[in-house]
Amino acid sequence: MSVLAIEDAHRQFASGGGIVTALDGVSLALDRGEIVGLVGESGCGKSTLARIAAGLDRPDDGKATFGSRPMAPAGRQIDADTRRRVQLVFQDPLASFNPRRTVGRSIALPLRLNRMLSGGQERSVVAELMDQVGLDPALMDRKPHQLSGGQLQRAAIARALGLNPDVLICDEPVASLDVSVRAQILNLLLALCRDRNIGILFVSHDLGVVRRIADRVVVMYLGRVVEQGSNEAVWSAPRHPYTRALAASVPTGAASWRLDQGRVRLAGEPPSPFDVPTGCRFHPRCPIAIDRCRQDDPVLRPISQDIDAACHLAE
Ligand code: SF4
Repeated sequence: MSVLAIEDAHRQFASGGGIVTALDGVSLALDRGEIVGLVGESGCGKSTLARIAAGLDRPDDGKATFGSRPMAPAGRQIDADTRRRVQLVFQDPLASFNPRRTVGRSIALPLRLNRMLSGGQERSVVAELMDQVGLDPALMDRKPHQLSGGQLQRAAIARALGLNPDVLICDEPVASLDVSVRAQILNLLLALCRDRNIGILFVSHDLGVVRRIADRVVVMYLGRVVEQGSNEAVWSAPRHPYTRALAASVPTGAASWRLDQGRVRLAGEPPSPFDVPTGCRFHPRCPIAIDRCRQDDPVLRPISQDIDAACHLAE
């Protein structure tokens, strides 16, 4: 059984006098010891899905479960045990720390709130957590602004690990970091997944970053999953034109389909979520759209052993 599962989630928001559909029938499963990369442009619904996976929001329809129990039953907050076992790492580590509290005190705070620290233990436990993420424990008495972005993201991961989670939801965790630091944080997450058997949902707009870290990749467009599969399969032979366009913008790799740049270039902005196109919602930007695409909405279906895609021409 997956440690975390979202089934047929629908989510709408009222915005600017209209209704935005953030999720339109999205399913996702995460096992322990695997990294699922969730990728797509801004506004595709991936952050809404991440919030539901973290129990911070709930779908209007569909369900989210942690193990065998609902993440956040209707009308109730997420329970304390699930809250402890599903932890979040955010894009901007500086914004996730109290500027007046030392880094060590911030790392210790969730442990104290969950009564997982006894008197006199705090500094040794925090030092051990910092050590596990490659952060010098001597930094525990510094304030957040005295650490670099990479050091602070390590501290954020240490804070999440203190509660011994089964799942980490990482929302654009390296987007604000320099390239060299980015690689270190990705390596750290890979090691944590492997060594502690943690399931990681890694949210990113950058397929190149996801490619480096994920076991499986889920690609979203305008509130839907349009392609999903093993990292290797999605990268080496993506079946959906949108995934091809994302992959073609990554400046590495030499798969043969990449040579056909004219047919994979992503043009224009995503359509307004207030006015979702008929038929395939990608058709206004799709370089290979046919007449059928303007009327028939493609469903997500198995294309090969390793890939599902929502495209009439995926074969
Ligand atoms: S269904 Fe048509 S418009 Fe949509 S991605 Fe496939 S080819 Fe393009």
